[in-house]
Amino acid sequence: MTATDTVRPLTAAELAAVRADFPLLGRTVRGGRPLVYLDSAATSQKPNVVLEAEVDFYEQRNAAVHRGAHQVAEEATAAFEDARSAVASFVGAADDEIVWTPGATAAINLVAYALGNATAGRGGADAERFRLAPGDEIVVTEAEHHANLVPWQELCARTGAVLRWFGVDDDGRLDLSDVGSVITERTRVVAFGHVSNVTGAVAPVETLVAAAREVGAYTVLDACQSVPHLPVDLHALGVDFAAFSAHKMLGPTGVGALYGRRELLEALPPVTTGGSMVEVVTMTETTYMPPPQRFEAGTQMVAQAVGMGVAAQWLDELGMGRVAAHEREIAAELLKITEIPGIRVIGPSDDRDRIGVVSFVVDGVHAHDVSQVLDDRGIAVRVGHHCAQPLHRRFGVAATARASASVYTGVEDVVAFREALAGVRAFFG
Ligand code: PLP
Repeated sequence: MTATDTVRPLTAAELAAVRADFPLLGRTVRGGRPLVYLDSAATSQKPNVVLEAEVDFYEQRNAAVHRGAHQVAEEATAAFEDARSAVASFVGAADDEIVWTPGATAAINLVAYALGNATAGRGGADAERFRLAPGDEIVVTEAEHHANLVPWQELCARTGAVLRWFGVDDDGRLDLSDVGSVITERTRVVAFGHVSNVTGAVAPVETLVAAAREVGAYTVLDACQSVPHLPVDLHALGVDFAAFSAHKMLGPTGVGALYGRRELLEALPPVTTGGSMVEVVTMTETTYMPPPQRFEAGTQMVAQAVGMGVAAQWLDELGMGRVAAHEREIAAELLKITEIPGIRVIGPSDDRDRIGVVSFVVDGVHAHDVSQVLDDRGIAVRVGHHCAQPLHRRFGVAATARASASVYTGVEDVVAFREALAGVRAFFG
């Protein structure tokens, strides 16, 4: 990425070329209407190179990895490991700091269960540093996706640790007015989302990492909604663990990654055990491989991993600075819905430190009805609590509609969305 990448958004011609690469964007819905896809925070569409990479893998290289002694197996292993390198370099990590998982949810659970196993005495002396005692504290935020909340509740239940959290201010940003009273000497883990999948707000990672470091707590970053939209350098951010999913970053479903600092992964006990992660097995004892293989038991999602690697390369080639600059423009366009009478945005109404994810309610109209009207016009948004019930409760709503962008979203998409939204209240009288 060059310095200008950080400021130059996509030109109209570049955006047209990007869009042409996503076959699904060319389809029609609801009786021939062009699809306006504003549901990328739920899952993104996939460019041709990703689709072709999976087909090519199955057509030319399909074999079990790290096992076979034949040419096709060697090629499959090379493709699998090259994909790991591509994903690692995309997020500023070393290759052996990336563990394949089925997605972000699985990655966060992996960390939480590994800490639980350490607490139960697994992993021996190496893992002692991770042990949680009753009264230790795990800190999250009220803005978390359930994937970065429930696993910590469960870990607390298993270990006697206590869950604490940062609240959210009226603008949907984390309330860090008194960091030192939430992150204390008792804190062992600080788990938080980089970008909220509801408000689109970017969390102040530096502040939270610094506070966690000061008390020796481990940080777990849910990077699901940042990695597809912003340049992310995990080493520079200084987090201990991070989780993200391929399907939100133009890659396939069924694969994601856990990042862990190498020395931490080396000390953590495994969670899922079985084939592919062992060195020596006797009827009474087993020794485990070093990371990342220690955390990759069983046959892996190889074709999907290859697709994720290609997605990372595709984004890298475009330049994440430019992706972010383009999406900033789209976010500003989305936020113009605040000019429509009766619309309330849940989250920051300015475009500072936020991405193009905008959740909203329409006065007097249920979110499901809003999405129905939009869908009738070919506009796909998400509706519900977006797996963030506590955050919705904080704002006194059970459900919101959410429009979310990706690199392929154009201003025309947002204009069509705004025009349709402007008619919603009139439609319901
Ligand atoms: N975290 C955030 C912020 C998300 O938006 C999502 C998906 O919506 C997840 C975690 C879970 O990701 P996955 O369902 O791919 O495991």
